[in-house]
Amino acid sequence: MRIAIIGGGAAGMMCAARAYEVNPEAEIFLIDRNDGLGKKVIISGGGRCNVTTGVNDIKTVLTKYPRGAKFLISAMYAFPPEAVYAWFEAHGVPLKCQTDLRVFPVSDDGHDIVGVFERIFGAGVDVPVDPTKIKVMLKKSVLSIEKQGDQFAVNIRDQISPLLVDRVVLTTGGQAYRQTGSTGDGYAFALSLGHTITPLAPSLNSFTTKETWPASISGLSFEKAALSAKREGKPHFTGPFLFTHKGVSGPAVFALSSLVAFEKYDATTPLEISIDLFPDETVDALRERFESIVVGKENKQFDNVLSLLVPKSLAEIIIDEIGVSKSKRVNQVAKKEINKCLAWLKAVPLNVIGRGVGDEFVTAGGVNLSEIDPKTMESKICPGLYFAGEVMDVDGYTGGFNLQASWATGRLAGEHVTL
Ligand SMILES: Cc1cc2nc3c(=O)[nH]c(=O)nc-3n(C[C@H](O)[C@H](O)[C@H](O)COP(=O)(O)OP(=O)(O)OC[C@H]3O[C@@H](n4cnc5c(N)ncnc54)[C@H](O)[C@@H]3O)c2cc1C
Repeated sequence: MRIAIIGGGAAGMMCAARAYEVNPEAEIFLIDRNDGLGKKVIISGGGRCNVTTGVNDIKTVLTKYPRGAKFLISAMYAFPPEAVYAWFEAHGVPLKCQTDLRVFPVSDDGHDIVGVFERIFGAGVDVPVDPTKIKVMLKKSVLSIEKQGDQFAVNIRDQISPLLVDRVVLTTGGQAYRQTGSTGDGYAFALSLGHTITPLAPSLNSFTTKETWPASISGLSFEKAALSAKREGKPHFTGPFLFTHKGVSGPAVFALSSLVAFEKYDATTPLEISIDLFPDETVDALRERFESIVVGKENKQFDNVLSLLVPKSLAEIIIDEIGVSKSKRVNQVAKKEINKCLAWLKAVPLNVIGRGVGDEFVTAGGVNLSEIDPKTMESKICPGLYFAGEVMDVDGYTGGFNLQASWATGRLAGEHVTL
């Protein structure tokens, strides 16, 4: 049996490894346009590679996928995060789980994750090519795929004859960070083979705000804040975030961006969001705390006292936004104004007018899940065609969930494609 796996990213590598394990007799071609495997894996997690999550309850894990959760059930039970953890450790890469439940290689180096596959395939920077193993075809761009009877003809740039195979697995990824080779080609291949593609949108991106004041506190970060979008009463997300020169970014912002991935917002119809900087305290508790801070400091300048609650740079912005004169002492500020300041801190109002250009981590949308068998990853439309990874209409929040989905679906596809 001849199998072409198109895309040597997370899903493609895991698919190839599993297919080879299940049927070492199969002739497996792993094709990628890059000069090395797993380009996106290597840069993921800021180069540290947040390889999976430390959340082990599958039901909880599935809540981290705004799209595709139900579809992922079989794949996730078959290869859950703890199995992924054990798999990489068994293949020589010790992992660590941080207190925020993100899992990384102990080395903090994504190359080690890709190195596992290079050793399995007998094809890597420090691994001599072993032609008896998986045929890794690098620097090969697939141009199109045609169904010819029971076979597939895979047309590759600068190659006169197509590669004829019995089965194809599409693991071409989404179209985020196109410089990593994931340019969305898989959508066209799937379309040409009879599939439909759901609308596509960037997800896990930063926000650009109408307000320009975030620029003056760019880099100021908070470990824990609760962010919510006012539109349609979206749930809030609690987590770290930071102000940037254009707006806001960080894990809680990414999660929110994922929920509003398909919403339209711009300068004329902004997305109103609010940020609670003290999610663990009610406004009354915050007021009480501030009142105790104030004791003995009634003659001090208000912004200096407020900066005992929040960083000074932010305190200056608050009084500006609320309209309190900078020179006022605490005992000159009306109670109403103090309450306004505290209410502002509990719900910092911002108008989002755009997504950070090109900084999204994943593409929301993809190959329509109703056209794929979730137990095997095989197409229901084109027998012999399989899918795995981000090319499908599956995406998760940050925290290792996107790679986890790629490992799990890649492994399931690899298991079934050789049968
Ligand atoms: C900057 C960044 C950081 C991230 N960090 C994390 C993280 O820490 N944890 C996490 O869980 N997720 C992270 N993600 C998301 C995660 O990396 C992706 O969801 C995941 O890599 C998708 O895997 P995939 O195998 O489906 O696709 P990809 O990894 O995108 O692989 C697709 C491959 O297909 C190849 N290809 C495409 N078209 C063709 C063609 N026509 N011919 C030949 N080859 C082709 C591409 O070259 C590419 O190598 C991050 C994403 C980005 C952009």
